[in-house]
Amino acid sequence: VVELRDVTRSFPGPPPVTALHPTSLSVGRGEYLSIVGPSGSGKSTLLNLLGLLDRPSSGEYWLDGQPAHEASEAERTALRGGLIGFVFQSFHLLPHRTVLENVMLSTMYAPIPRSQRLRRAYDALCRVGLEHRLDFRPTTLSGGERQRVAVARAVVTEPALLLADEPTGNLDTATSEEVLNLFDELHLDGLTLMVITHDDAVAHRAQRRVRITDGHLQELS
Ligand code: ATP
Ligand code: MG
Repeated sequence: VVELRDVTRSFPGPPPVTALHPTSLSVGRGEYLSIVGPSGSGKSTLLNLLGLLDRPSSGEYWLDGQPAHEASEAERTALRGGLIGFVFQSFHLLPHRTVLENVMLSTMYAPIPRSQRLRRAYDALCRVGLEHRLDFRPTTLSGGERQRVAVARAVVTEPALLLADEPTGNLDTATSEEVLNLFDELHLDGLTLMVITHDDAVAHRAQRRVRITDGHLQELS
């Protein structure tokens, strides 16, 4: 699914920063990979590149066999929408929309009728165990429930790759567990997951782990 070849990312500054040194990484369909590293090591930089939110300074990024490094802005937007789901630390749910509406917004531009978008959103919320919260506002839910809504929103488009940046960063141990158990289930269902975390316990839930230190990637066994 993911093939990075000598990808780098520098910021011109001042002061200039090389956030990612030449990095190669290959992630196959159905893999569950975690990325650990201290603050400022380049984790979000890497995730933003993988999610097509940012462009590499050099190198190649093949996503699902397509040369994302050569894609135009419009092509990148299309690739992102079709292939990638995001989960962030702070949920990013719309507070004035219901849980169901939040999930439906993901498929807003999908060329399918509203009834089908509704059905898919409902199915995604069942998948995360929140079918009893459809009409609730996100603000009335627990942190773990909110993150599960965010996961439903990310998977409703059936992405080739789910990217999560510190998905348990705002959660206590018990609610983190809910989200991690959900990731296990999605992995068993065949989803490809990449999870960024500070937390070694979270990282160990993945099947494969890499560490990033000062912009250098290292595979852990
Ligand atoms: P954290 O755990 O705190 O989220 P991180 O591992 O995600 O850290 P990054 O956000 O990837 O770290 O940052 C890596 C380095 O790149 C840091 O030195 C940071 O200051 C720098 N950096 C990131 N984004 C930019 C930017 N837009 N402009 C300039 N420098 C940046
Ligand atoms: Mg970060």
